[in-house]
Amino acid sequence: MQNRICRLFNIEKPIIQAGMIWASGWELAAAVSNAGGLGIIGAGSMYPGVLEEQIKKCQQATSKPFAVNLPLLYPDIDQHIQTIIKLKVPIVFTSAGNPKTYTHLLKEHGIRVVHVVSSSKFALKAQEAGVDAIVAEGFEAGGHNGREETTTLCLIPAVCDAVAIPVIAAGGIASGKSMYAVMVLGAEAVQIGSRFVCSEESSSHIAFKKAILNAQEGDTKLSLKELTPVRLLKNIFATKVQEAELAGASKETLTNLLGRGRAKKGMFEGDLEEGELEIGQVSSMIKDIKPAKEIVAEIWNDFLNIANNPIKI
Ligand code: NDP
Repeated sequence: MQNRICRLFNIEKPIIQAGMIWASGWELAAAVSNAGGLGIIGAGSMYPGVLEEQIKKCQQATSKPFAVNLPLLYPDIDQHIQTIIKLKVPIVFTSAGNPKTYTHLLKEHGIRVVHVVSSSKFALKAQEAGVDAIVAEGFEAGGHNGREETTTLCLIPAVCDAVAIPVIAAGGIASGKSMYAVMVLGAEAVQIGSRFVCSEESSSHIAFKKAILNAQEGDTKLSLKELTPVRLLKNIFATKVQEAELAGASKETLTNLLGRGRAKKGMFEGDLEEGELEIGQVSSMIKDIKPAKEIVAEIWNDFLNIANNPIKI
């Protein structure tokens, strides 16, 4: 396929794997890129030395382009930026922060920059900051999310109307059908997270992957809106958060309840009761764990099948 996103990243299929903490290391990123999509290393959970090693391994495992996702609130962000520049990573996806801060510097080094937003207002700000493309992420998405609760169906056409640069749709997409739907709404690519957590190459704990396979409709909830909103699979920890929120807990109380390293505990160490389990609503549609290459092929073939046989009226 040839569109602005495929040309921008030099990829065959406009299928982008989200850079998820504790899931997206070099194995997953390289597998998705080798399958013709764009793989992303999720740097938010990696110490600087770990990111450097992950990028080098990814470069050995694929000759195709790949990206790094950088949450801008990461504590040692300058070190991550220097590593990315030094190792000539071609594409960076930034999230959770002001895109003005680093876009210029990254672009000076020839790096393509994409910023993740959850509203048209921030899409415009990202465009003004000079990014090359935008990920517009709807309410359905797992992990960190917007406060406004705008669904993908409403967000994508609004953002596509608001900006001139290409838009990548995220949130609730795990199949060729949903990919086709957002492309009709104006997106030029999809970013997919939850489906790739249940890949063989994702570094998430097997217990977390199995919990996703067992997830039913309604099993996730957007929590902690007073701090940083995050969509979690319901468990004992998420219930404690909900009870505290219903009781009117202060930010300080919620911060103490969250503590440190909950995401690692849940998604990487497999503590299904007390850990944070960040996953999207679409988890209820995920039924198997398979190689990333097969996930990309399945989504792409379903997409092509629908695109070549549109609904007849
Ligand atoms: P916490 O403050 O609760 O814990 C920090 C975690 O990050 C620890 O598990 C720690 O590993 C690890 N870590 C990696 N590098 C550093 C560093 N330089 N300094 C301190 N800790 C580090 O944060 P969270 O686990 O909730 O989030 C971690 C990061 O991931 C944040 O930057 C956040 O913005 C980002 N994030 C990104 C998401 C995404 O989807 N892209 C979703 C959620 C969070 P260890 O336990 O080994 O010390």
